[in-house]
Amino acid sequence: MTQLYSQPNSWKPVIGLEVHAQLNTKSKLFCPCSTSPGDTANKALCPVCMGHPGAMPCLNAEAVHLALRAGLALGMRLHARSRFDRKHYFYPDTPKGYQLTQQEWPICTSGRLHLRDGEELVPFIIERLHIEEDSGRLQHHGEQALGDWNRAGIPLIEIVGAPDLESPEQAEDWFRMLHRVLVVAGVCGGAMEKGELRCDANISLKSPNGSLGARIEVKNLNSFRNVRRALQHEVERLGALLQSGEQVVSETRAWTGDKTVLLRPKEQTADYRFMPEPDLPDLVLTDAMVGPAVNALPGLPPLDVHLLRSDDDTLAKWMKTFGLAREQVTVLTRSPDMANFFGQCVESGGKPEQIAQWIQRDVTAQLKKRGVALSETPLSPAHILELQAGLDQGTITRAVALRILEWVMVRGGDIQGLVAIQGLERIRDAARIQALVAQVLAEHTEQVTAYAAGRSELFGFLMGELRSASKGCIDPRDMTMALSQALEPKA
Ligand SMILES: [Zn+2]
Repeated sequence: MTQLYSQPNSWKPVIGLEVHAQLNTKSKLFCPCSTSPGDTANKALCPVCMGHPGAMPCLNAEAVHLALRAGLALGMRLHARSRFDRKHYFYPDTPKGYQLTQQEWPICTSGRLHLRDGEELVPFIIERLHIEEDSGRLQHHGEQALGDWNRAGIPLIEIVGAPDLESPEQAEDWFRMLHRVLVVAGVCGGAMEKGELRCDANISLKSPNGSLGARIEVKNLNSFRNVRRALQHEVERLGALLQSGEQVVSETRAWTGDKTVLLRPKEQTADYRFMPEPDLPDLVLTDAMVGPAVNALPGLPPLDVHLLRSDDDTLAKWMKTFGLAREQVTVLTRSPDMANFFGQCVESGGKPEQIAQWIQRDVTAQLKKRGVALSETPLSPAHILELQAGLDQGTITRAVALRILEWVMVRGGDIQGLVAIQGLERIRDAARIQALVAQVLAEHTEQVTAYAAGRSELFGFLMGELRSASKGCIDPRDMTMALSQALEPKA
């Protein structure tokens, strides 16, 4: 990994991630309340998830099944006996005054998550996986806070990775891979915008002599990109502190979108007064519980290895079937989304080489620009095929095609309709082109004179003006020809 993720700084980041994933169940972890009650606040509540005296929790079997599936997918040890503990804290997002979690005896420990390094699969240690319930939500309005406890009691698994990641980029890859495993295993929906998957990142810097600096925790990172960016920010911030000789203290921080801010110093860590939940027996695994979890998985060894190997198979198959280069297929198969999208485009009649170019170059640029995944955009294979058809038939220019691509990736819509409404058909009529050229030259007489006097670089400037005046609707070759003709010294 050193080559891919090498750090120029002599202080090396040491990073570990903790992920909370919402389990795909219909009801909460200890009561029959719905996990998808809609938009009305405080609708899915009962005496159990409110912690009323005498209310008895009953463990959701489906949540246990999904947690086991996640454990198996990550190659973890399943523990025959685990237990729920009360973690006490008094805060308005928790109706009970405590959260049930598997503090002492988690259901799974010691697994692996693999990342690819060239031909090799490098394992990273997963320390533990345990089941716990979510807390409610608080909405702050100025001085006031409103509480919604619909989420209180929703089943989560917390997955704790060992601090063996060496860079923010690697941490992002790790989180992507974990997301993929949990979604493919059918454990978690994976919609980060809905809070179904959340990540906390721990980072410290290791000095050249090997001593570890104070640990910073960045809470609630809700996208792959934010994991990387928040960690990059911390690497720089901590590096600068150390460089200036200041002491780094352990603290918990939050990511605001462009920087991290202090939430609380670590010295204030609460005493949660953990105690075993007296109303629940130990969770004892039986064959009847483990068997279905094993059968539900697409294949053993661990799911991520399976996924990466099937990527290899796809790679070989696609290079052969579509005549694409290895690098192209690597990009296209980086996410299942993108691979499916490519497959659909080709099935609908797209030329593999052209479709690969659209996805690799133009679609990827838009995704990067907005920091979203392909599935989060309204782009469909039909859009790409129509844009390509427009170029092939010469009804739109490439500049227009790119503008429309950007539009449909944000708002969706019908390509022919957009072209018609916005008046973006390619201008081929020589008289119209000449009229636009004449207009541009009339508006820039100074530059025209300078050009005639030998400042040939002004041709590029005039091309730019003509491009704006025509909204990019003239093909660059037609523009060049018309402009050169108009600028030719008149005999
Ligand atoms: Zn309930």
